[in-house]
Amino acid sequence: MRPTQSFRGLPLGLLPDTRYPDPRIEVLDRRFTARQGNAGIERIASGFRWAEGPVYFRDLRCLVFSDIPNNRMLRWNEEDGHLSVFRAPSHYTNGNTRDRAGRLVSCEHDSRRVTRTEHDGRITVLIDRFDGRPLNAPNDVVVASDGAVWFTDPGYGIDGPYEGHAAAAELPRNVYRLDPASGTATVVADDFVRPNGLCFSPDEQRLYVVDSGISHGGPAHIRVFDVAAGRLSNGRVFAEDFAPGMTDGLRCDTQGNVWCSMGWGDPAEDGVRCYAPDGALIGKVHLPEGCANLCFGGPKKDRLFMCASTSVYALYVNAEGAQVP
Ligand code: MG
Repeated sequence: MRPTQSFRGLPLGLLPDTRYPDPRIEVLDRRFTARQGNAGIERIASGFRWAEGPVYFRDLRCLVFSDIPNNRMLRWNEEDGHLSVFRAPSHYTNGNTRDRAGRLVSCEHDSRRVTRTEHDGRITVLIDRFDGRPLNAPNDVVVASDGAVWFTDPGYGIDGPYEGHAAAAELPRNVYRLDPASGTATVVADDFVRPNGLCFSPDEQRLYVVDSGISHGGPAHIRVFDVAAGRLSNGRVFAEDFAPGMTDGLRCDTQGNVWCSMGWGDPAEDGVRCYAPDGALIGKVHLPEGCANLCFGGPKKDRLFMCASTSVYALYVNAEGAQVP
């Protein structure tokens, strides 16, 4: 294994003083009550510089995620808890997802591109330029049921050497849709300060997109758009009460609830938030570390995996992740 900046990490297992119902799971609305089972928060892996981009493989019963500053991706085996290197160097990969054929799709900071890992292991570059200029540094990605690849390009990976390399942004910080048939990308949103995590509602009629622009003088909120014929319309703020912290990544469950990360602000707010489809904040999952991104997984899609700073946490919830291949 190549040298990394790894350190020992935090103790694994159920968090100390776990009892049911776990007081770290905060119910703010009766709609969230049924989401909470007799389950506690587990730290399943630790020792990363900055964990991001979780994606679950039900066929392999493993979680793949990014450790961006260490320029690697890791694989956690759900069968026995074994942790191994999945890819290094990873070109400082950030967000990951799977397309409907089960192939891994990744946002690479350092090489400033979106790639697909084929079933035989070859890596296909889906896009690295737009309008003749290099992408900034793609951050997060989701694939629609028609195969279209939707991704954000805020450029955190070119802010400095820690998560990529320093370079000037040559493109606006856009949200893109890459058409699978033509290979053509179009700008679907151009008015974000720093577009970040994104996810579809279960019926793909809505797209939620985080603006983490508070890091650069902008907002800390989630916007939602109507989706039709590969275009977005009727953009409005869906949730906006994150400052002075912010959210980064998000996923929907099959009931349309939006589960999003929370960090960078009051430590008491570190973790995950759950919003009902009407925008009401209905519950919180409190973690010991600020959370950047999350995904649903497990054989029943009911296990929430949370990439939170130096560790990955897991929690069984009474919800089923939407669009989990
Ligand atoms: Mg992100």
